[in-house]
Amino acid sequence: MQSNPTTVIVDGQGVEALCQSCGVCCSTFRISFYWGETTAAEGGTVPVEMTEQMNLYRSCMKGTSQSKPRCIALAGNIGESVTCTVYENRPSPCREYDVFDAQGELNPRCNQARAKHGLAALDVRFVPTVGMPAHIGLPIKEIGPK
Ligand code: SF4
Ligand code: SF4
Repeated sequence: MQSNPTTVIVDGQGVEALCQSCGVCCSTFRISFYWGETTAAEGGTVPVEMTEQMNLYRSCMKGTSQSKPRCIALAGNIGESVTCTVYENRPSPCREYDVFDAQGELNPRCNQARAKHGLAALDVRFVPTVGMPAHIGLPIKEIGPK
């Protein structure tokens, strides 16, 4: 069953604004990936000085492998205003994380992570405008935590 959220997000910019007011996934999970994504490898883009080698094949973002994780590349205060300082060169797990599923429901890991930081659950839903029939009106586009 679909939720009835107080906040509706309708485009990529809305998702960006949502994440810039949150950032807990960068302070909760270990962000690990194939070492070849780092600049130590030809064609790699993730700054190697911001990573640590976990084993022969895998690296992780510095700061995310500790008991209270926080990615070294995260600037700002979580739950308020954050920025990824290596956004264009971030590793694959950050690029591939689905904030919303195909039905527009928020990834449950987001609110699990927020709960760990004592932050209120986000009550949001993604409703893409592209391809929507013109006669269907959208609710308020306000962005932000509940
Ligand atoms: S936890 Fe979810 S909503 Fe928060 S910054 Fe990460 S992806 Fe965005
Ligand atoms: S690289 Fe950027 S998006 Fe990925 S965990 Fe670090 S701050 Fe977050």
